[in-house]
Formats: sequence, C-alpha cells, structure tokens
Amino acid sequence: MLRGRTCVAVLLVAALTSIPTTVAIGAEVNLYSARKEKLIKPLLDRFTKETGITVNLLTGRADALLKRLQAEGANSRADVFITVDVGRLHRARVAGVLQPIKTPVLNQAVPQSYRDPDGYWYGLSVRARPIMYVKSRVKPSELSTYEDLGNAKWKGRICIRSSNNIYNQSLVASMIIANGEARAETWAKKLVANFARSPKGGDRDQIKAAAAGQCDIAIANTYYLGAMLTGKDEAQRQAAEKLAIFWPNQSERGVHVNISGAGITKSAKHKQNAIRLLEFLVSDSAQQWYAEANNEYPVRPGVARSATVRAWGDFKADSLGLAELGKYNANALKLMDRAGWK
Ligand code: FE
Repeated sequence: MLRGRTCVAVLLVAALTSIPTTVAIGAEVNLYSARKEKLIKPLLDRFTKETGITVNLLTGRADALLKRLQAEGANSRADVFITVDVGRLHRARVAGVLQPIKTPVLNQAVPQSYRDPDGYWYGLSVRARPIMYVKSRVKPSELSTYEDLGNAKWKGRICIRSSNNIYNQSLVASMIIANGEARAETWAKKLVANFARSPKGGDRDQIKAAAAGQCDIAIANTYYLGAMLTGKDEAQRQAAEKLAIFWPNQSERGVHVNISGAGITKSAKHKQNAIRLLEFLVSDSAQQWYAEANNEYPVRPGVARSATVRAWGDFKADSLGLAELGKYNANALKLMDRAGWK
C-alpha cells in the first residue's frame, strides 16, 4: 500500500515538473545557489512571471556546490552560480567554472568595486562586517578602528568566529591590503590575545555570547543582527537589542564590506537566459526585495534599504575593489594560522 502511494506521488511529481518544459521548450535557466531558497525563490518566481523563463533551482552549501561544478565540468547543467563572499567568487573564477560576460545593464547597475574587473562575477547585495558592542559595558567613544581591537584594553573582551570562516578571511585580507602583511600579522596576534574564548559558532553566536556577558565586543555581519532583531525568536531579539553597531575606520578607509554575487558558468547552455536573470537581479525592484529579504545593502546605488538597515545609519564603506580580497585570501588564511587564530 505504502509502496503504491509512493509510486503515485513520484508519478505526480514527475508529471508536474515536466509541465514547464513541455510548455516552453528551452526557455529555462539552471541556477546553483548557495543562498537559502527563501532568500532567492520569490525573486526567481517573479523573473519567470516577467520573462516566461523557468528557473531550475538547486541550493546547497557554497563549497559543495563549487566542488560539484568542478566535478561536472563541461557537462554541468548549471548556467548561473550564486554564492556569498567575494573570497568564494574568486575561488570559483580561479577554479575555471565561470565565464566572463559584460553587458551595459550589468556594468551600469553594479559599481566597479562590486564586480570582477573582467566580468567573471557581479555583486548582488552588500554586507558590512563592523564592530558590535554591548551598550551597557562599552561606550562608542572607546572604539575607533579594526586596528584598535589589538589594543590591550580589549583583553578577554572580543568574540569572533574561527579562521576557517570566509568572512574573517576576507576581513584579514582587507587588513593586509590596508597595512601590509607584517603589520597585519602583528595586529592579528594582538587580536587573538584579546579573544574572550576560543572561536566557536557562527556570527549569531558571537552576538549571543556578547549579550550573555562572555565578551563585550562581537564581530559579525550586519544582517545577522538584523535577522535576530526582526525574527520570531524572542530570546534572540532580546540578545540583539543589548548590542549596537559601531562603524569603524570612518576617518580613513571605511568599514569592511563584502558581497553576495553571481557568475555565469563556463558550461552554460542557456547563456542568454542566464544574462537576463543576472540583469533582472540587479534591477531596482529586485534589488530592493533581495536586500530587504536578508537585511543587506542593495548593490545598486539609490535603491531603498529596509527599515532595520536604515536605523543603523549611514557609514563610509571601504572603497577597495573587492576582487582584491579574493587575491589575498590564501595569504590571509596562512597569516591567521601563524597568529594562532583557531
Ligand atoms: Fe552569512
């Protein structure tokens, strides 16, 4: 009986999924996305409604999807790869799974610093990685720069996740670019000496630990704070409310920022549809939805931010071309290792 039911279900699913291809043969695009389905699917549905192009979405973990793209090679069904952090977009380019494209629409919508100079990938949203502090124990006047987090006054007071996290690798890459490798290493050693605990957990866990009194400073991407503030989990909301954002390095290079982004695969069989999808994702309305869905910053200038993001105020972002962070990723990783950053 159970087997019979399963068969019917399988047949039904097969019948349903075959409908779009019979309706519009070829009008499809295959997307491998490291972003969660809820952060991208509603936008893809709108794209399909506007263009008639079906998007076949495969979501997975970033590193696994990149490995899969490499293993599949020219036979990959993927046309577009979406992932987070420029360190990973750079790895995808170096791995040879992307192809360069340039269109006036993309180049106009995405500022130069948020796209690959050769067109291998384009930013879709911007995220900042500032300093977050516990309001009851730290005054904003005590804070200034990332560099200052190496000051002995922060001994035992800083929570940050491990060095195998790509966000931290990109942050350290930005320190190497700004200050040179030797000074960045000295800083990293001092920072590690100021850790409140051995790094563990994700960005949310650093915010929670700070709220719980284990540290006074947390380094985290802004959208995690946004998700905690606006989510349904009451304990997380209360924890997040104990912290505030400090925008560091404002009198010089600015806050470290990164992107989520996309590239067209080398194996793309639906290249024109893939280009249309990317162009759609940087359109005004898509940008607003995409940035709002995860409390990120639109990559396209002039697009409205979510109310939560607006409340954090304006800041000066590091204007560094993000492709540089990818180039320094390997150096950053080795440096963190030498500094004893677990
Ligand atoms: Fe994240």
